[in-house]
Amino acid sequence: MMGHSHAMTGAIAWLGLAPGLAAIPMVTESSTYIETGIMANALNPAEFIAGAIICMGAAMLPDLDHPSATIAQTFGPLTWLLSKGVNWISGGHRGATHSLAFAVAIGFGAHWLANTYPIGRDIMVVLLIGLALRAIGIGIPGNKLGSVMINIGMTAGLFAVFMSMNVGYAWLGMAVAVGCLIHVVGDCMTERGCPVLWPLSVRFVLPWKIGIKTGKKFEQKILAPLLSVVIVGLLFWRLAPI
Ligand SMILES: [Zn+2]
Repeated sequence: MMGHSHAMTGAIAWLGLAPGLAAIPMVTESSTYIETGIMANALNPAEFIAGAIICMGAAMLPDLDHPSATIAQTFGPLTWLLSKGVNWISGGHRGATHSLAFAVAIGFGAHWLANTYPIGRDIMVVLLIGLALRAIGIGIPGNKLGSVMINIGMTAGLFAVFMSMNVGYAWLGMAVAVGCLIHVVGDCMTERGCPVLWPLSVRFVLPWKIGIKTGKKFEQKILAPLLSVVIVGLLFWRLAPI
């Protein structure tokens, strides 16, 4: 799948699952007092949106094993080199990073970082916001420097807004894991499939060759608009006062 499809499914997964996940005590820093007079674990609207953006960025991480993927080209030679390394370690594209084990490991890593090193956590949050914006194509077509400047400006702006709204990051690990997992699910829908149970080498792929061809008409003309509509619908459903 292409970067923007992964990013959009990442947002959808978070918007769909977050209210349920928030019931897990470790996902919310403090209990929120809701109108009914009951103390409940809940994400506030700002955390809900921040989580969707983080999850979008995290949904790009498994493709670090692909030196020409969107993620590898996001931060110039730095991400390209990193991606070369990951590609080598994980045994080529769609190897170890496209598995359940990777999603769980990187989710726990992010959770640990969020609890242990506030600065490391902030760096991770900023990188993931930048990745999410890059994935959905924020920028000026054909103007690399301009696009980078817009990305940096918007990333800093969003981070500052989240800070001013007291967004807590207790859910960071969960959002990262969900993002990586939905990437794997998405790639399983394509014709190449994924080694979900890595290190076992069995690949999960749809039967009868009905898998999506990456970057072809269906993904660009039908899937992308459909995913955007689902995102808008979910945002409305979760946040509109009824
Ligand atoms: Zn992938």
